[in-house]
Amino acid sequence: MPEYKAPARDMKFVMQELLDCDKHYQDLGYEDASLDMVDAIIAESGKFTEQVMAPLNQSGDEQGCTFNEGVVTTPDGFKDAYQQYVDGGWPTLSQPVEFGGQGLPESLNTAINEFALSANHSFAMYPGLSHGASATISAHGTQELKDMFLPKLTDGSWTGTMCLTEPHCGTDLGMLRTKAELNEDGTYSLTGTKIFISAGEHDLSGNIVHVVIARIPGSPEGSKGISLFIVPKFNVAENGEAGERNAVACGSIEHKMGINANATCVINFDSAKGYLIGDINRGLHCMFTFMNVARLGVANEGVAACEASFQGALAYAKDRLQMRSLSGIKNPEGPADPIIVHPDVRRMLLTQKSIAEGGRAFIAYLAQLADIVHVEKDVEKKAIADSKLALLTPIAKAFLTELGVECTSHGIQVFGGHGFIKEWGMEQLMRDTKISCLYEGTTGIQALDLLGRKVLGSKGELLKAFATEVGTFCQEASQDEAMLEFINPIMKHAGEWQKITQTIGMKAMQNPDEVGGASVDYLMYSGYVTLAYFWAKMAKVSLDTLANGTDDAAFYEAKLKTARFYFARILPRVHGHAACIENGVDTMMAHSVDEFEF
Ligand SMILES: Cc1cc2nc3c(=O)[nH]c(=O)nc-3n(C[C@H](O)[C@H](O)[C@H](O)COP(=O)(O)OP(=O)(O)OC[C@H]3O[C@@H](n4cnc5c(N)ncnc54)[C@H](O)[C@@H]3O)c2cc1C
Repeated sequence: MPEYKAPARDMKFVMQELLDCDKHYQDLGYEDASLDMVDAIIAESGKFTEQVMAPLNQSGDEQGCTFNEGVVTTPDGFKDAYQQYVDGGWPTLSQPVEFGGQGLPESLNTAINEFALSANHSFAMYPGLSHGASATISAHGTQELKDMFLPKLTDGSWTGTMCLTEPHCGTDLGMLRTKAELNEDGTYSLTGTKIFISAGEHDLSGNIVHVVIARIPGSPEGSKGISLFIVPKFNVAENGEAGERNAVACGSIEHKMGINANATCVINFDSAKGYLIGDINRGLHCMFTFMNVARLGVANEGVAACEASFQGALAYAKDRLQMRSLSGIKNPEGPADPIIVHPDVRRMLLTQKSIAEGGRAFIAYLAQLADIVHVEKDVEKKAIADSKLALLTPIAKAFLTELGVECTSHGIQVFGGHGFIKEWGMEQLMRDTKISCLYEGTTGIQALDLLGRKVLGSKGELLKAFATEVGTFCQEASQDEAMLEFINPIMKHAGEWQKITQTIGMKAMQNPDEVGGASVDYLMYSGYVTLAYFWAKMAKVSLDTLANGTDDAAFYEAKLKTARFYFARILPRVHGHAACIENGVDTMMAHSVDEFEF
């Protein structure tokens, strides 16, 4: 298993130097989030993930969760590690002070989450889901429900889930069948079966708080008739502790490709007691709170997998001796050169490095937008942040997770045949990260959300705020000649991005399938251009820092070299996507269903 080292230096570069988190936090009134505090949290969380979570990653995968008559047991060491996580106060970091949290910014939590996800994707999902459940209850629950559930979710003694999927519906939640009937006391009785529920049952916490979508009899069919409920595994007793068992049971757990240490459960509700949150039939709307938090978290999984795989591949590439460099022997004392001398190995390593570092900047930027949406009082500033977040969340979710899969595949490839062997841990990274392209809305669904709903649906309005930001940066940075190698391609592609959008919009008026035919290429195109923007910004900070003098010049020189690699070897992928979009949907729809057989 590659030894994981939290990339604290790079995280600080992104948060402090690139995104000036000090100003950002002070502007939003997070007085406790000083630079010293940010440093300390990055350092301590790095240690925790390296020392407690990472050592359980491979054994957790091998052992997996076990199911026995409704009881789910997590792999050896998980319970103890979770307790250490709770004792260390990690679940409380960005939770409201009112319920026992530390009240620190959400973006700080996002940063340290990357470390947790790299160290142990399966483990990190348990608190990750609790976090989303808390956010939903916090945003939509009554004070009584908040008082009932949030203190325990905040301190981590209870965990949360998100129960949407049913056997016959995943993407199309409007078809759900779980029903919620009103009881005389104002609570509801929920009956139905949910599948694929992550962390749905386990032995880590004293109670499990399910956030469940269901239909109240008489509600409209489809997505307009969905309401949202809290259904605890144990009902809450008068003293606030877990009381009698509720009628919720785990029917089985899935045997799956990856994240084997995270229990994926069938959860049966059999007239289980539940509490409505939010308004009746506004369940999907309320769920968006959960989904936005969760989608950013899943995007982070892509970056985290890329980073972990890069670390393993880099160490191996420096060590493994095979063949000689084409440009002359580099290791005359050895029988062969280390494989890092070969251009193709460098192509793979630098693809991983440029996606991990670029993705880290992209995620940190989005997390700051989420902070603004969460606490900013100025209506206009909040609206601008909201529109950027709405546009960029599906891009980050799908683009970064697809690249997570690609980059973990490169990690295997760098190891050659050894990458295919379990012992090295590289194949686990790829198996674990594939799920990120599927849950929280598949890549195809994110792409439709981006192109259909966000971009064309707003008649291009949502693109404006981000396009203005990119345009302003390019204009200012182009005063510096050294920046032109980065700015010119962005300007070119930003213009093309708009043209492509218009072309699809026109074609869609003739044939609505054009949107579905173009959407994933459009999303990937948007992702590569967006990442180019963050790489250009990182190049600017690096050039400025080097010009001002620094005793860490090697770090900034390396950043510039990675930026150049991104622009030379990754960004040109947009041409392929643009050509596919240009060629339209006709060849995709030409086969009749029967003709697929021939
Ligand atoms: C390990 C694991 C953990 C999970 N955790 C949770 C959880 O905690 N809570 C929860 O509620 N769910 C969870 N899920 C479920 C997950 O969110 C769904 O599997 C996912 O949303 C896709 O739904 P589906 O599997 O029913 O696929 P379908 O909806 O049947 O989709 C199948 C394929 O068709 C495509 N497709 C469908 N409709 C369209 C369309 N209109 N246009 C283009 N393409 C389309 C999809 O992109 C996909 O490629 C989990 C799943 C797994 C495997």
